[in-house]
Amino acid sequence: MSEIRVEVERAIENAERLNGILNAFLTIDREYALRRVEKLEGADSHGKLHGIPIAVKDNICTSWTQTTCASRILSGYRPQYDATAVERLNKAGAVVIGKTNMDEFAMGSSNENSAFGLVKNPWDIERVPGGSSGGSAAAVAAGIVRVALGSDTGGSVRQPAAFCGVVGIKPTYGRVSRYGLVAFGSSLDQIGVLGKKVRDVAQVLEVISGRDEKDATSADVRVPEYLKLLDRDIKGVKIGVPRLLFSGGLDSEVKSAVEKAIEGFASLGTEIVEIDLPLLKYGIAVYYIIATAEASSNLARYDGVRYGFRAEGVNELRQMYYKTREEGFGEEVKRRIMLGTYVLSSGYYDAYYAKAQKVRTLLKRDFQAAFDKCDCIVMPTSPTTAFRIGEKTDDPLSMYLSDIYTVTANLVGIPAISIPCGVSKESLPIGLQILGKYWAEDLLLNLSNVYETAFPLDAKPKVHVQK
Ligand code: GLN
Repeated sequence: MSEIRVEVERAIENAERLNGILNAFLTIDREYALRRVEKLEGADSHGKLHGIPIAVKDNICTSWTQTTCASRILSGYRPQYDATAVERLNKAGAVVIGKTNMDEFAMGSSNENSAFGLVKNPWDIERVPGGSSGGSAAAVAAGIVRVALGSDTGGSVRQPAAFCGVVGIKPTYGRVSRYGLVAFGSSLDQIGVLGKKVRDVAQVLEVISGRDEKDATSADVRVPEYLKLLDRDIKGVKIGVPRLLFSGGLDSEVKSAVEKAIEGFASLGTEIVEIDLPLLKYGIAVYYIIATAEASSNLARYDGVRYGFRAEGVNELRQMYYKTREEGFGEEVKRRIMLGTYVLSSGYYDAYYAKAQKVRTLLKRDFQAAFDKCDCIVMPTSPTTAFRIGEKTDDPLSMYLSDIYTVTANLVGIPAISIPCGVSKESLPIGLQILGKYWAEDLLLNLSNVYETAFPLDAKPKVHVQK
């Protein structure tokens, strides 16, 4: 048996076995994966990801198997085409073993909004893995795959990465093609990568990045060879730390872990500078206006005619739309469609949507001013460690507040990465977030790799594959 066959089969077996506990996968496609292996075994040349098993979030289109966005309304929907990111993974020789669970249409921070059951955190199965890419984060943390794709509209790669003790990067808006990524908030959405090691994340990002003529918002900006830049000396890099950042709502253990990580960076020769981001506090309000507005428009296409599910027992067109959407969408998705429709309605457009767009511009200026003084900015990824299942489901607002540190990178469009920086007393991982200038993924990966090498995380989740 070839090495790659052994590795792919092992990943599939582990995925199947651990799914009973974690529910990280919505689809595990053994047959497809083994067909891919066969093809790779016969190939003369090897791509950068030759034979590497990978998991893909279920809002990224795959032509060979269903793409549900963890929604009843898309159950059984099989796309006509592959997302560009998936196409590039395949071309590089990766083997997609399955599609991962998520919050419905990527709306959520805990994975409890999936129509197909919640995902459990491998560090403590009574806790959430974070969201919305919770399945991808759990699959990586449990050692099923080394890398997985997620999507990040307001933190959905970075926050679950932090909750599950893995690395997660959201690239600059336009770095990775959104073709085939099911739209949530189109001006915020980016495909990102989760992985156990910075090196693997860098490799996959290198493969999926770059201009794609099928997505007009993908940028024609050169993609560096991230892997080759990982070990550069970080002496003299200026790291900005926002003053007043560490106020209300921030868990004290998270705070001290982040402060320790900043000291760690200082000990590696970087220069720590204080910066101001006075408008950061408006991030959540602006995000939940813009993201819901865009979502309400994007989700109008699910009408029972074009995709997946259609309600039964109606024979009048309008009623069919209503009933399909009533039965097909979950509670959080409906809440957001209503919020978004409201902020876009003629009486409220100026007061909410237009105002939010203005503050978004001011936020960009805030960051531009900060980046005059530093090369990157650090802050926590999330104000807390993984919370308990059910803890926030009755209080959507407190759930929204947990995105406080992640949403601004999406509003501004800059890249950001989350890396593990310690564990709490209860043995739950803590994430450190590094935000960079436009297109500076290379520096974020470089800093993360040097940090990971100097301060490796020496704890392991309870649920983990045996080697
Ligand atoms: N938690 C945020 C939300 O619920 C972010 C989601 C995301 O990044 N997809 O909207």
